[in-house]
Amino acid sequence: MKTPEYVTPTTLREALELLSGAGGGEAVVWAGGTGLGPLLRRGLASPAVLLGLEKVGELGGVQPADGGLRLGATVRLRDLQRSPVVAARVPALADAAGRVGNVRVRSLATLGGHLCHADPAQDLPPVLVALGARVCLVSLRGTRVLPLEEFFVGPLQTVLSPEELLTEVWVPGESASRNTVYARFAPRSPEDYPTVGVAVSVRLDPDGVCQEARVAVGGAGPTVLRITAAEQALVGGVLAGQRIRDAAREVEAAVDPWDDSRGSAEYKRAMARVWTERVLQKLADEV
Ligand SMILES: Cc1cc2nc3c(=O)[nH]c(=O)nc-3n(C[C@H](O)[C@H](O)[C@H](O)COP(=O)(O)OP(=O)(O)OC[C@H]3O[C@@H](n4cnc5c(N)ncnc54)[C@H](O)[C@@H]3O)c2cc1C
Repeated sequence: MKTPEYVTPTTLREALELLSGAGGGEAVVWAGGTGLGPLLRRGLASPAVLLGLEKVGELGGVQPADGGLRLGATVRLRDLQRSPVVAARVPALADAAGRVGNVRVRSLATLGGHLCHADPAQDLPPVLVALGARVCLVSLRGTRVLPLEEFFVGPLQTVLSPEELLTEVWVPGESASRNTVYARFAPRSPEDYPTVGVAVSVRLDPDGVCQEARVAVGGAGPTVLRITAAEQALVGGVLAGQRIRDAAREVEAAVDPWDDSRGSAEYKRAMARVWTERVLQKLADEV
């Protein structure tokens, strides 16, 4: 295999021009390389040009925005984990970032690369979907902003065109007024992808009545799944007992896992129910 040329644009415009083919060869984005590197080593991808994003300043940074957050695509997961702004506004996101793989992976992997890699078992998509995050996709032809749940198409597939970059992720301000919990079930090793990962974000009134809910599950379908039937089962009553069990049953009915080394489809469906109950109980205990 011919070694790809590694180019490092310094502006977003330059990066987009290279992606659109202005550099001559077909360029593929390289962020942290923790997802793409193994594919290249196995010969599953052979781009002529690798487009390193590390010098594009516009793509970095964690900033407070409208009560929520604006997260640049090249923010490393370790920086998300340690950011005081993230911890203050959406602690569940900092917590989830700190659970991805191991410190070597988190020190290299970027938020944009993590989402664009689109493995359905990844840790951050469920949390970000539960938070109501949106992604910003930019090409020379324009910009589009999508709810994160509409970004994923299937395993390792997204709506991104080859000329587009994911530039930033927005976490809305209203998510800071909800309580959000993420739990991952990784029985083989804490460094492994989870068998299932469940995130729930709720707004409860002082009596514990659920006013609003967002439920998302990873590892149990071709993409992260937002489970609106479970959300409907939660809203309008106290977060406790039968209501928790009913919502968890809705999750079990809605997920669509398959057999693999992390468990059978049947086992994953059951684990999605069990871990949803645990997450909901934790939220109820926090009232
Ligand atoms: C040992 C190991 C353990 C792991 N454990 C876990 C785990 O427990 N949980 C978990 O969730 N994940 C885990 N991962 C996966 C890891 O989270 C992903 O590999 C990583 O997040 C990808 O980020 P990256 O910046 O390295 O992306 P890259 O590998 O650089 O890129 C991934 C893909 O996205 C594209 N891309 C990157 N950035 C952009 C952008 N801004 N716009 C458009 N396209 C872009 C690239 O072209 C490539 O196709 C593990 C990985 C390893 C190697």
